[in-house]
Amino acid sequence: MTTFPELGLRSELLRALDDVRYTVPTPVQSEAIPVVLDGKDLLACAQTGTGKTAGFLLPILHELAYAKGPRLRALVLSPTRELAAQLGKSALRYGKYLQLRSTVVFGGVGLGPQIDQLERGVDLLIATPGRLLDHMQRGNLSFHALSAVVLDEADRMLDMGFLPDVRRILNALPAERQTLLFSATMPAEIERLAHDVMQSPVVIDVGPRATPVSTVRQVLYLVEAEQKGRLLHYLLRRGRLRHVLVFTRTKSRADWLARQLGETGRQVEALHGDKSQRLRTRALDGFRTGRIDVLVATDVAARGLDVQGISHVINFDVPQVADDYIHRIGRTARAEAQGDAISLACLDELSYVRAIERSLGATIPRKMVRGFEPGPLTVRQFTQPQASRAARLATGAIRHFAPRGQKRW
Ligand code: AMP
Repeated sequence: MTTFPELGLRSELLRALDDVRYTVPTPVQSEAIPVVLDGKDLLACAQTGTGKTAGFLLPILHELAYAKGPRLRALVLSPTRELAAQLGKSALRYGKYLQLRSTVVFGGVGLGPQIDQLERGVDLLIATPGRLLDHMQRGNLSFHALSAVVLDEADRMLDMGFLPDVRRILNALPAERQTLLFSATMPAEIERLAHDVMQSPVVIDVGPRATPVSTVRQVLYLVEAEQKGRLLHYLLRRGRLRHVLVFTRTKSRADWLARQLGETGRQVEALHGDKSQRLRTRALDGFRTGRIDVLVATDVAARGLDVQGISHVINFDVPQVADDYIHRIGRTARAEAQGDAISLACLDELSYVRAIERSLGATIPRKMVRGFEPGPLTVRQFTQPQASRAARLATGAIRHFAPRGQKRW
C-alpha cells in the first residue's frame, strides 16, 4: 500500500493531510498523484466519494508551490457553484501551509469582489464555465502563465449543456499545458472531448464505472404516488432520521416537499437552482452544522455536495437517469463510511428502476410498510411475476413493518 510521503508530496501538504487525518491515499489518489506530478495528461474515470478531489488538488498545489507568484497557473472547471465552493475549501484545507492564493468564481453573485480578487492575483482559480467566460470577455484574466487545467465532473458538464463553453475556454488556454479530466462516467461526447483537448492521456479507471460505493445499503419502498409524502414522514419518524438528504425530480416538488415536512415540525430547507446563492449557502451551512436536519434537493443543486455524516439519502422520486441514482447515493457513505439509500417507487417509476438495476447489475431489495402498501398491480410489476407473494414473503423478498401511530398530512 502506498503512503502519502511515498507519493513524493511536499512536507507542507503532508502536514495538512495530517490535520485532516487522511492516513492512506485512496485508490484514485495513489494512481492519479504520480501521473499529475509527472506532468502527463490524465483521463480519470472516478465517481464521487472516491477522494478524486485530493487526487488532483494535491499534486497541483505541490507543483504551484515551486514557482513564484501569484500568477494564474492552474484552473479547475466545475459544473456547479456548490462543487466550485467545495473545491475552493479543499484547496484552502490542503494548501494551508503553502503561500499560495486560490479563489473561486461562479455566477449568481456580484462580479465586483471577484474582479478585485483576480486583480490582486491568484495561483489557482476554480470556476464554473459561464462566469469564467464572463470574466474572460471582460478582460479580467490572463492565461499566459497557465500550465494546468482540470475538468471536474465532466459528465455533469455535458448533462448541463456546458461542453461548448468548456471548449471555448480550453481554446483560449495555452496549447502547452497539462489537462486533467475527471468524470464518473465516460459517455462518447466526453471521450471525444478528451481526444480533442488532451495529449496521449494516461487513463485510469477506479472501480467499475458508475458503480455505487459498496458501503451504501440500498432499499426500494413500493408505494402509491400520492402516499409518498406520508411514507417519507413515517420513515423519518420511525428511524429518527437526522441529517437526511432527500431528492426530488423538480424544483417545484422540492419546494412543496420542504413545506410539507416543515409543517411536521422538522427543520427543513430546499436546495435548488432557483434559490439565490445566499439562500443556497445558508441551506448548506445549516445542513452542515446540524441546524437543518432534512435538505430537499434537486440533482443539479446537490452535485458535488460534500457533507460528512449524511446518514440517509432518500429518493423521494426515482431519478430518470441511472447515473443520477449513483451520484445521489454517493452523497452518503463518503470515504468508506456506512450509509443508507432509500428510494420511494411508484408504478410510474418502474421503468427508471429497471434501468437503474440494469446499470447496477443487481436488484435493489424491495420493501413495503404496512398501511402504505400499493395496489396489487404495483406489487406484481415490481416483484417477480412467477413467484407467489406468499412465497416471497416466506423467503424474505418482501418484508413488512408495522407503523406506530401514523400521522396524516
Ligand atoms: P471526493 O471524492 O473528492 O469528493 O472525496 C470524498 C470524501 O473523502 C471527502 O469528504 C474527502 O474529505 C474524503 N477523503 C479524500 N481522501 C481521503 C483519504 N485519503 N482519507 C480519508 N478521507 C479522504
